[in-house]
Amino acid sequence: MTFEDIKKRLEKISKLMNLSEKEIEILLKFKRIIKKELEVDGKTYEAWRIVHNDSLGPGKGGIRFHPKVSEDEIKSLAFWMSLKTSLVELPFGGSKGGIRVDPKELTEKEIEKLSRIYIRNFHEVLGQDKDIPAPDVYTNQQIMGFMLDEFEKMEGRHEPGMITGKPFELGGCLLREDATSRGGEIILNLFLERMNKKPEETRVVIQGFGNAGMNVAKMLYEQGYSIIGVSDSKGGIYDEEGIDIEKMIKIKKEKGSVIYYSNAKISNKDLLELETDVLILAALENQITEKNANDVKAKYILELANGPVTSEGEEILQKKGIIVIPDILANAGGVIVSYCEWVNNRVGHIFSKKFMEEILKEKMHKAFHKTYELYEEQKTETFTMRDAAYIIAIKRILKAEKARGNI
Ligand code: NAD
Repeated sequence: MTFEDIKKRLEKISKLMNLSEKEIEILLKFKRIIKKELEVDGKTYEAWRIVHNDSLGPGKGGIRFHPKVSEDEIKSLAFWMSLKTSLVELPFGGSKGGIRVDPKELTEKEIEKLSRIYIRNFHEVLGQDKDIPAPDVYTNQQIMGFMLDEFEKMEGRHEPGMITGKPFELGGCLLREDATSRGGEIILNLFLERMNKKPEETRVVIQGFGNAGMNVAKMLYEQGYSIIGVSDSKGGIYDEEGIDIEKMIKIKKEKGSVIYYSNAKISNKDLLELETDVLILAALENQITEKNANDVKAKYILELANGPVTSEGEEILQKKGIIVIPDILANAGGVIVSYCEWVNNRVGHIFSKKFMEEILKEKMHKAFHKTYELYEEQKTETFTMRDAAYIIAIKRILKAEKARGNI
């Protein structure tokens, strides 16, 4: 999704909220956009770190390594982080970073070098009180470990709170790895309760079988949901009788793709059009657009990825009566647990897993109920759950801006 697309969504929201020009200007403004060229062994890579709004606290947002990373994409992702942290009531703003690179073409050593060079280029704008990165697509715990190490070497002191999603020994937290999926699972269960639907009678299709997709598949499978389709960048598998997710995870880990599970293959395009109760989008942006929205047959869509449904795509889904549970709510689990990790690092304490699970649950429940209630209250032919989530998030950001005297 492009930032232009976000502007279109904001136009709708600003009418609903009756926002002033000044308020719209604040929401469209970026605090910091930095682009650098990183050089590793004679090759150069474009890289960004962008902070959208930091009125509620330091910027918070992941770092993505992907061949299609662009400034426009990072801006959109930073914008959504501002809304997400606001919706779940965290003391953070929104930011994002990325490197345009295909990590599959690099050796582990080259990935380490690139990660360290990224920090050398951006360390001045990062820090536990400035802007705090985390993992995103094709970055992981180990990369966060290299980044923290490089930052602390440059600063000459420890500051584990400058990055989250790092290895446990460096101040990471045990819950972070599957936190996004746990959050998504909580939201899906709460939503289906409202729809009077039980896990045993719910079919699920999942696009993307990485950190977010694989972990949510495992959780839902254990609860009795029937996962009938999954895919990754190489293709998908469809079995209307239900996929054995434990076996699938083993195959994905051993062979690198879900497609080696059986001969029941399906293309990613067809997977999105399967007859199912829930379609979970856990890969990348722009998967449901005006081109394929008409062919979607799912009843409900859970956006575990950021921006997988475009605004044109959503308009068509809305007309068809398909409810989209928006990304800023559905995938907020990761940043909530990142917040716990950041608090731990700042106070030199380690919360128990149980305590963090409670915080995750409480914040996800609160955000869901507030969003769903506003959605129910305002429901019209065009009012979506995303509209409700955006309104709640934007209100909090604007209150902070007002408290700072900016409005
Ligand atoms: P990941 O790199 O672990 O996994 C991405 C998965 O998507 C891989 O299985 C990949 O093969 C698959 N994929 C890529 N292109 C595809 C395509 N065209 N069709 C089908 N599958 C495709 O990344 P992740 O951390 O799981 O992130 C996935 C999404 O969730 C991203 O949008 C990310 O921003 C979002 N998200 C992740 C977290 C987190 O904590 N991991 C938090 C919030 C949001």
